[in-house]
Amino acid sequence: MASGLISRHLDKRSAGRVIRNVRAESETMKTKLKFPVAKERSIFFPKEASCPVCRTEKVLEPHSMAIVNLSAVLMTNRKTRAGSMSDDLEGFLRLIWHGAHNGGTGPDAGTEGSLDIVEDARGGQADLYFCSTGCLRQFLNECVDELERRIEKVRKRTSLRADTR
Ligand SMILES: [Zn+2]
Repeated sequence: MASGLISRHLDKRSAGRVIRNVRAESETMKTKLKFPVAKERSIFFPKEASCPVCRTEKVLEPHSMAIVNLSAVLMTNRKTRAGSMSDDLEGFLRLIWHGAHNGGTGPDAGTEGSLDIVEDARGGQADLYFCSTGCLRQFLNECVDELERRIEKVRKRTSLRADTR
């Protein structure tokens, strides 16, 4: 299956053609995301029955949905696989960039960045809903874009510091 990044490049390439499909149009972000999208006791995203990406299709019961499910159970007996949800747990969903250091190799060495998509989720449970896999992909792309913006910010700050030395 093509990744979002690849399909985005394909979109650019075929932008001049008339057959720019309707689905791609409906997958553009209609609102700017505020991270974390879910936090503490607000473990559902979005709150209203409208896809947070396209804002045109419905989500939540009984509609079709692609779901990012963050979940954890507190095991009481691993042998019998007994466990249950626990209010003592807190869940996180985070993207992290780790730049190479101390002789390590790779892009954006010496930089770091992170993006909390879900933070301090009570009980270690959270669900993010989207009307389609296309909108889910768009959301994940937006998350990676935001992580890249944060890396870029750190890169600029670091090079500014290096310039003033
Ligand atoms: Zn949608």
